[in-house]
Amino acid sequence: MTSRKGIPFLDLITPHVELEEELLQVFKDCIRSAAFIGGPIVERFERDFARFCNVEHCVGVGSGTDGLRFALMAAGVGHGDIVITVPNTFAATVEAIIQVGAIPHFVDVDPATSNMGVEALREYLNTQCDRPDGRGSTVHRVTRQPVKAIMPVHLYGQMCDMDPITLLAEEYNLIVIEDACQAHGSEYFSSGKGGWQRAGSMGKAAAFSFYPGKNLGACGEAGAVTTNDALLAQQIRMIRDHGQNKKYYHLVEGYNGRLDTLQAAILQVKLPHLEGWNEKRRRAAEIYNQLLRTSEEIRIPHEPSWSRAVYHLYVIRAERRDELQKHLAEENIGTGLHYPIPLHLQKAYAHLGYRAGAFPVAEKLADEMLSLPMYPQIRNEQQQQVADTLTRFYEVLVETGKVHP
Ligand SMILES: *Cc1c(COP(=O)(O)O)cnc(C)c1O
Repeated sequence: MTSRKGIPFLDLITPHVELEEELLQVFKDCIRSAAFIGGPIVERFERDFARFCNVEHCVGVGSGTDGLRFALMAAGVGHGDIVITVPNTFAATVEAIIQVGAIPHFVDVDPATSNMGVEALREYLNTQCDRPDGRGSTVHRVTRQPVKAIMPVHLYGQMCDMDPITLLAEEYNLIVIEDACQAHGSEYFSSGKGGWQRAGSMGKAAAFSFYPGKNLGACGEAGAVTTNDALLAQQIRMIRDHGQNKKYYHLVEGYNGRLDTLQAAILQVKLPHLEGWNEKRRRAAEIYNQLLRTSEEIRIPHEPSWSRAVYHLYVIRAERRDELQKHLAEENIGTGLHYPIPLHLQKAYAHLGYRAGAFPVAEKLADEMLSLPMYPQIRNEQQQQVADTLTRFYEVLVETGKVHP
């Protein structure tokens, strides 16, 4: 008998041990040159990450949340404006919207991809919005507040269906700010643009997070904004640095939201590995797909033909999810819920006035989805063990008569 070891949900140790010497070296370099804030190390990472995303500009910031907030501010979204997003996302999406003074309006997600539903977006715009002068700005029919922006979230590492979202944004004169915090390197086949487009290159601007667990993670907090708009990039450079364009000359109200030099140096070490890590995640996803495809109780993630996902998370939909998760935990297999409560039902956002039942797809998802162990270093036999444990769980339910085959 071989003893079965547990399988963690995430392995943040192996990639850092593998790169330990390089990481220690850049730390030493930063100490020896007292390079702590800004400087050529940050600029070099910004240039290389912009290239990775196939955009002209990248501005390093303190976190993904900073990135979302600064992108909205720089794009002119502010007090009393409405920003359309989804309830099935991490809270930071909505924090950023509210913290610039705007109001999040949710549209439901697509049941196949768990990302922003194009029909839900279209219906919201067609039935709840007006364009008073036929062109120019869009307002909400009831509150008359300006509807300014759409914030699609490329959740789990898969991009939203950006062509129709972009067309609707054009039709209603809305800005698109991508929440690309889970989608470093993810791609979308755009018929409009005639080719594969990278996450972060399709909106007016996009925010990335380099939180340690993301596909590209710092050893601490870090984030970035990408854009093809030079003026917007310039504006964000000021906003992240107390609104100054040179020391003590403050042109706009800003924040302390810069990217640490040390984090930029660490990210620079990791960036050349990102493509390969994403490829390994895609391969791991394909292995899970093969192992779980025939299960009747589990639905594997759907990757449309227009998508090349980078599987920040591998999320299944499962019958008896809570029992299954408990069983996996007993077998020392780590899992996660992304996310257990849709944002419109969270206590913190009760003031937005939504009720249970408002977004049935997002609500059903919250009850069914389960994130399985997923990282570039996960091994075949570990995935096999996860799949066996899942399969066995349902077999036992059938055998004990708890469910009928
Ligand atoms: C991680 C994440 C963020 C926030 O990023 P931080 O760097 O933690 O501030 C925002 N949106 C989504 C979808 C995320 O996953």
